[in-house]
Amino acid sequence: MTGAGSLLRLIRNGEAVTRADLVRRTGLARSTVAQRLDALLAHQLVYEAGGSASTGGRPPTVLAFNQGAGVVLVADLGATHSRLVISDLAGAPLAETTFDLDIADGPEIVLAHVNEAFAGLLAEINRGAHDVRGIGVGVPGPVAFSRGEPVAPPIMPGWDGFSVPGWFASHYDAPVLVDNDVNIMALGEHWTHWRDIEHLLYVKIGTGIGCGIVAGRRIHRGAQGAAGDIGHVRLAGHDEVICRCGNIGCLEAVAGGRALASNLTAGGLHAESSRDVVTLVRAGEPQAIQAVRDAGRYLGEVLAGCVNFFNPGAIVIGGDIAEAHQQLLAGVREVIFQRSLPLATGDLRIVPSRLGDRAGAIGAAIMVIEHVLAPEAVDRAIQAGLAA
Ligand SMILES: [Zn+2]
Repeated sequence: MTGAGSLLRLIRNGEAVTRADLVRRTGLARSTVAQRLDALLAHQLVYEAGGSASTGGRPPTVLAFNQGAGVVLVADLGATHSRLVISDLAGAPLAETTFDLDIADGPEIVLAHVNEAFAGLLAEINRGAHDVRGIGVGVPGPVAFSRGEPVAPPIMPGWDGFSVPGWFASHYDAPVLVDNDVNIMALGEHWTHWRDIEHLLYVKIGTGIGCGIVAGRRIHRGAQGAAGDIGHVRLAGHDEVICRCGNIGCLEAVAGGRALASNLTAGGLHAESSRDVVTLVRAGEPQAIQAVRDAGRYLGEVLAGCVNFFNPGAIVIGGDIAEAHQQLLAGVREVIFQRSLPLATGDLRIVPSRLGDRAGAIGAAIMVIEHVLAPEAVDRAIQAGLAA
């Protein structure tokens, strides 16, 4: 069924810019196309602009997606640092702010602060709650995506089973999507720079280590939303290291930012966080350079298995430690190309993140936009409008 929503998708993708294009693309009668276009025009999702006179006679009217037809609100919540963005319906940022807030303060305190900041940003751009088409929230822990609830997140006390959509329901009449931060980063990086590649891994190496999986251009979350948790894969030969999860020899406990910082501190340097580790690398401290390169090798050991199993076209490495990417990626590449099968590494790209700490906010906006502008969602909104 080719409803108005499918027509909108053709216009958004640039596959159709005139009524004639839509007739040709969909095989629908001209009158049917006109009727569905009227609905899109009435909802201000599409506008008509004067065409170019290329063939003489009356130029065809050009159709364009109205990316200002609403806004999406995005909160990329980290353990201690958060970024809020308002973007238009094409994902272009309109207003933005960052702040420090401990996610361990619990959902009521954190979300109240987020909501206040959203209101401030909306006022800044002369928009109101009625303009909000959707809300996206990224959190540093596992999430039951279908319910928008964090599930037993280790560093988020009070959030287990908390309904984030339920909290926002009294403030906005718009869908609320919640996902793990690494998944939205993977989506942001893929959508912005790697749309030609079908299968991609995004690895975040900060305090901990996690991996977002893009399979067939979609986020793969797994049966329980736990897919990509490579931080707790066991490395051989590290039985003396106990992980915060209770197991021994986990990748994160050996090569995560927290582990690197405490190892360097034990070796006589001063490092409290993954950012301090990067500062030491940039200062040319040999011990820190060696530690990050080794971390790359350990990460490479786990990723070599992922490459054989999943055969990604690209591995994008982000997170604080990835800012020392020359050292880190040298280690990662060395082990992956040595351990993985040649067929799987033939065209494999292993690259640093290009979006850096903006990847999550961009990905969350895309997640929401694709949800609210999905053809079925647009058709439902138009139906509801007709019924009202
Ligand atoms: Zn562990």
